[in-house]
Amino acid sequence: MPETITKEQQTAPQDVRGVQRTEQLFQLTAALSRALTPHAVADVVLDHTLTAVGGCCGVLMQIDSSGTSLTTLAAHGLRDAYRHPWMERALTRVDPLTDAVRRLEQIWLPDRATITARYPQLLHESVDCCRQAYVALPMMLARNVLGAVGIGFAHEHVFDADERTFLMTITHVATQALERARLMAAERALLVASDEALALLDEAVRLRDTFLSVAAHELKTPLTALLGQAQLLRRRLNQAEALSPANERSIDIIIGQTKRFDELLTDLLDGGRLESGQLLIRRAPFDLMELLRCVVDTMQSSLSEHELHADLPVDALTIIGDRVRLEQVLHNLLSNAVKYSPSGGPITLRAQVSDATVQISVTDRGVGITPEALPHLFKRFYRAPEAGRLRPDGIGIGLYIVREIVQQHGGAVSVASTVGEGSTFTFALPLRAEQ
Ligand code: ADP
Repeated sequence: MPETITKEQQTAPQDVRGVQRTEQLFQLTAALSRALTPHAVADVVLDHTLTAVGGCCGVLMQIDSSGTSLTTLAAHGLRDAYRHPWMERALTRVDPLTDAVRRLEQIWLPDRATITARYPQLLHESVDCCRQAYVALPMMLARNVLGAVGIGFAHEHVFDADERTFLMTITHVATQALERARLMAAERALLVASDEALALLDEAVRLRDTFLSVAAHELKTPLTALLGQAQLLRRRLNQAEALSPANERSIDIIIGQTKRFDELLTDLLDGGRLESGQLLIRRAPFDLMELLRCVVDTMQSSLSEHELHADLPVDALTIIGDRVRLEQVLHNLLSNAVKYSPSGGPITLRAQVSDATVQISVTDRGVGITPEALPHLFKRFYRAPEAGRLRPDGIGIGLYIVREIVQQHGGAVSVASTVGEGSTFTFALPLRAEQ
C-alpha cells in the first residue's frame, strides 16, 4: 500500500516533496506493472493518487467504443448513494469529467465557489463530501482520449505548479497502463475467438475427411465392376476377332480412364486412413532392387514420350518393409515425373546404397517447382499454382501419401528442383544393421 501523505509532508520543503513525489510515482509504476486488466489499472491508479494528493474520492472512467459515453472502471471513496450516477454517463452531459474528455481540457476546481460558478447544475444533484475541491484530467494517448480521472477533495485544495505537474504525470502513466491493459484484454479475446475458430475448423476438416472416405468407398464398388466389364468386353471382342482398331482404342481409353479414376479413389481413401492413423504397414523382408526393376519394366511399356532409365548399383538388396506401399511410393513419384514433364524427356530412377541407408531418387527434366511452392508440396491437397493448368486431373494427395509411407518406414523424403529444368525427389530408407 502506498504511504498516506500528511499535512507536514504537503508543506514540506520543495526538494523533500520532490523526493516524496518521485517515490510515489515509482510505487505507482511498480504497482501498475502488476495490473493486467483495465479494472485493475484503474484501482491501482485511484488507490495511489488519492493517497498521494490527499483526495477523499476518485473515479476513473473510460470512453466506450461508440465514443458517446463514459463508463466507470473504478470508483473509490464514494458512498453507495453517490455511486450510481458515476457508473455511466453520456458525453452530452456537462460536468468536470465529460468536459475533460470532450474539450480535452484539464479542469482544476480548487474550491466550492469555483465549482458552483462553472457547474451550477451540480448543486441540484446529490453532493457528497468530496465536492469542496475537484480536478478532472483527460487521459490522452497521442491524439486519442481514452477517458478521464477525477479526484475530489473534502477541503479546498491548492493546485500549485508542482501539484499540477504531479497529477498530470500520474494521469500520463495511468493512460499508458490502461492502453496496455486494454490491448492485452483485446488480445485475450482474440485468442479465445481463434481457439473457437480452430475448433470449428477441426470439425469442418473432420467432416470433409469423413465425406471423402465415404464417397470414395461408395464409388469404388461400381468402378471396379465397370473396369472388370470393360476388360471382359475387350477380351471377348478380341477372341471373336470383332474388335476394330477404332473400337479397341475406345475401349482402351475407357479402361485407362477407369484405372486412373480408381487410383484417385485409392489415394483419397489412403489419405483418410493416414489422417486417422489407420494406414497399415505390413513389414516383411523383400528384395528392393527387384521391386525397382519390376516398377521400371511395368512403367516403361506404357510410356511413349519419355525414356525411363534405371541406375541400380547392386543386383539385390533385402530390406524389411511393406513392398506394396513402397511400390505405391515409386509409382507416385514416377507418374509425377511423367505428368509434370509434358514435353517428354528422360526420367531416371537411381538407387544409392551406403552402410546405413538406401537412397532412391526420381529425376525428371520437366517444368520444375518454384521455391515458394517447395515447402508445401507434401501437404495434403496442396498443388503448386501452375499444376492445375498442366494437369487438371490431380488432387494433390500423392506426395502426402509418399511422405507418410516413407516416414512410417523410418525414412525421409526430400525434393530439389529448378523451374524449367526439372526436379529430383529422393527418399531414404534405413537399412537393418545386419545388412
Ligand atoms: P497431384 O499431382 O495430384 O497434384 P501430388 O501430391 O502428387 O498431387 O503433387 C503435389 C504437387 O507437387 C503437384 O500438384 C505439383 O504441383 C507438384 N509436383 C509433384 N511432382 C512434381 C514434379 N515431378 N515436377 C513438378 N512438380 C511436381
